[in-house]
Amino acid sequence: HKYVYDFAEGNKDLKDLLGGKGANLAEMTNLGLPVPPGFTITTEACKAYLTTGREPDGLAGQIEAHLESLEREMGRRLGDPDDPLLVSVRSGAKFSMPGMMETVLNVGLNDRSVVGLSAQAGGNDRFAWDSYRRLIQMFGKTVCEVPGEEFEHALDEAKRAKGTKNDLDLDADDLRGLVDAYKQIFAKHTGREFPQEPREQLDLAIRAVFESWNAERAVLYRRQERIPADLGTAVNVVSMVFGNLGPDSGTGVAFTRDPGSGAQGIYGDYLANAQGEDVVAGIRNTVPLQELEQLDKTSYDQLLGIMARLEEHYKDLCDIEFTIERGKLWMLQTRVGKRTAAAAFVIAGQLVDEGLIDLDEALHRVNGAQLAQLMFPRFQLDHDFQPVAKGIGASPGAASGKVVFTSARAVELAAEGESVILVRRETNPDDLNGMIAAKGILTSRGGKTSHAAVVARGMGKTCVSGADELEVNVPAKTFTVAGHTVGEGDVISIDGTTGKVYLGEVPVMPSEVVQYFEGSLDPEHIDNPLVRAVHRIMTHADAARRLRVRTNADTGADAARARRFGAEGIGLCRTEHMFLGDRRELVERLILASGEREREDALAALLPLQRADFIEIFREMDGLPVTVRLIDPPLHEFLPPLEQLAVNVAVAQERGEDVAKEEALLAAVRRMHEENPMLGLRGVRLGLVIPGLFAMQVRAIAEAAVAVARDGGSACPEIMVPLVGAVQELETVRAEAEKIIAEVVGDSGVEVLIGTMIEVPRAALTAGQIAEAAEFFSFGTNDLTQMGWGFSRDDVEGAFFWRYLELGIFGISPFESIDADGVGRLVRIAAEEGRAARPGLKLGVCGEHGGDPDSVHFFHEVGLDYVSCSPFRVPVARLEAGRAAI
Ligand code: PEP
Ligand code: MG
Repeated sequence: HKYVYDFAEGNKDLKDLLGGKGANLAEMTNLGLPVPPGFTITTEACKAYLTTGREPDGLAGQIEAHLESLEREMGRRLGDPDDPLLVSVRSGAKFSMPGMMETVLNVGLNDRSVVGLSAQAGGNDRFAWDSYRRLIQMFGKTVCEVPGEEFEHALDEAKRAKGTKNDLDLDADDLRGLVDAYKQIFAKHTGREFPQEPREQLDLAIRAVFESWNAERAVLYRRQERIPADLGTAVNVVSMVFGNLGPDSGTGVAFTRDPGSGAQGIYGDYLANAQGEDVVAGIRNTVPLQELEQLDKTSYDQLLGIMARLEEHYKDLCDIEFTIERGKLWMLQTRVGKRTAAAAFVIAGQLVDEGLIDLDEALHRVNGAQLAQLMFPRFQLDHDFQPVAKGIGASPGAASGKVVFTSARAVELAAEGESVILVRRETNPDDLNGMIAAKGILTSRGGKTSHAAVVARGMGKTCVSGADELEVNVPAKTFTVAGHTVGEGDVISIDGTTGKVYLGEVPVMPSEVVQYFEGSLDPEHIDNPLVRAVHRIMTHADAARRLRVRTNADTGADAARARRFGAEGIGLCRTEHMFLGDRRELVERLILASGEREREDALAALLPLQRADFIEIFREMDGLPVTVRLIDPPLHEFLPPLEQLAVNVAVAQERGEDVAKEEALLAAVRRMHEENPMLGLRGVRLGLVIPGLFAMQVRAIAEAAVAVARDGGSACPEIMVPLVGAVQELETVRAEAEKIIAEVVGDSGVEVLIGTMIEVPRAALTAGQIAEAAEFFSFGTNDLTQMGWGFSRDDVEGAFFWRYLELGIFGISPFESIDADGVGRLVRIAAEEGRAARPGLKLGVCGEHGGDPDSVHFFHEVGLDYVSCSPFRVPVARLEAGRAAI
């Protein structure tokens, strides 16, 4: 089994085996770029080590062979006392896990080779002893778990003795003394001397990198980033090059374009006379990369040439790490670089212009989550606003408001019309009301899957979590940060995308991308590069996609907005929203009707109102299909809550008032009270139980369509029956509806389809039968998830999903992204059996999943005709439907 690859043996596509860093070092080596020679130990070796607890057979011999050939190539032997080869041992998993795993530099140094290193460096003792103390420090900390602070203290002590704060003021003798101190620390904590044998150092360092895969922080990071736990890390053994050999040496990082905005140009930082870890530790300040041109023009020009070459080769933004050793440039790492959402679009557009990629590839390079980010309003930060803290951008958006520390206070102030930001150490299910009332949520603890983060994302509410610089004192109603004390009522601003926290109110500006979708920017005359790129990629997505995109809208205004955003019809018009407000009273009359007459009167009063609603919507969606769902929720939702009513009646009786009407209402509410209303008298069951209710709605829909047609418009209604579980239910409703439609439509030319939701598991499993009576199916994946999992959609998300996410039982709430294996299987069965029974059966989805990027791909793959989602998510669904099709 081959466990070790020379850099020249690998390539960029072997990330599974060689990790990202190893694969890209191999790629650069094969491009002929100056990469320090080395080899990569595979992720398979790591996995074998982690499962058996020891190095797999053959690994040691292969390392030996590759080390020998490295020594031959370099003309030096590892740790040779006279002229040592030194190596770095670096982790590198398939997915980048910045700072999560271990690296050991300068392996091969010991009491004798430190002298040889000095000679190699032209008698530079200081450099040699500094390198040695770094090895003991890094090796001690990462390989032998010696507490890092002990080394830090010894270093501080050495500087104090010298009367300086700067590492560079320590001379060779000071550093030699520090090496002694470090060795003592090492011996004290490990019970052994610092290993002098170079090969032993190497083997222990490799083992430590293997083991760092399972370090607590790495495990946590993987869980948060949804990186599988069983990939293992590769280990790169690379010959050392030194950026700390003097002013003609240095180290830096660079991007081939601006990862923030996507703009072309030179972006990077450089630090002369330093090693990479100094840059990361921020010990000294870096200079902009452009200044390297003055310091070392040859290396600078070479670097720019290499960066251009890498971009052309990878056809994408690359980030790199490099070192200059006495005027010689070395490439230590490259990879396709991370970028902001805006940069992703801009760069994809630029690369098309440059002929490096085509539009399909550009579409592939962006995603719906990025587009959604670009649609949130942003803070306008060109004023003097500096963040006072930075946490995790847990739920995007920009929110300003008065600070409150309790849920109760949030509710109170919000009721007075104030914008509030709820600040907590962490939230728990009791904070739900406060979270609903708040404009934004800020916590000092917890990551992307904390309670606050999960619930806020579910609500679409701005949230910054884990801002650990904040010292929150709930009893005192204050928090302190960066020397400021903030009390209840003080105004702060939080950015849920960047995680930044500001004092005071930062002005908010609307998203240009939304303005573009709204149609207020002319796409042909846009000079904003972001909007231009979005326009171009969206146009391509629309041409590529097979899935249609409709919207969930209940009002003319929503319908109009969604249409501007590109909706191709309404996939769900929930009629229950039309029964609220002033109309509640009419519904009450219907529910309380004591006889047929009263009921008919109540329905007759509702009919014209419903008809007017539908006319408005049909007009906005002129020429496009509109799926109207017959009333779904349990009727008591239209009545006052039981407790409130009972109290009112009692109080009124006390006062001796006439309460006959209220008493009747109370009796009705008592009669209708359900323990599990979601599983009670709702949906089609209502239609079958309350005579005339569905009939009134069907009549209103048909009359509205005819009215619009008579005015020269074109209405395409699709009547949808909710909560059907058996074909007999649908057949009963259908028979009545068809009669009414025939009577109303006459010869007007209007066509009305009748179909059903598939949202009860039994409906999915008997879809073949149900299709006999349905002209279309629309999957109600909210209820299908609720009933498929047995999770009450109103109760579970805040109550325990955070724990499920933490435990990895699922990676994302199944109400947010379709559970492809379980609930998705029901969709697949119903689609197949429905179409087998009725070829050409129209299939769509109208649950929340219709606007979720991953779910859109699933629905494409299952062969649905359309997805339907809230107006704001229509562009996201269009983009993802395009991506799914290429
Ligand atoms: C559904 O269940 O997915 C659906 C769209 O209906 P509602 O959310 O109104 O129950
Ligand atoms: Mg439903």
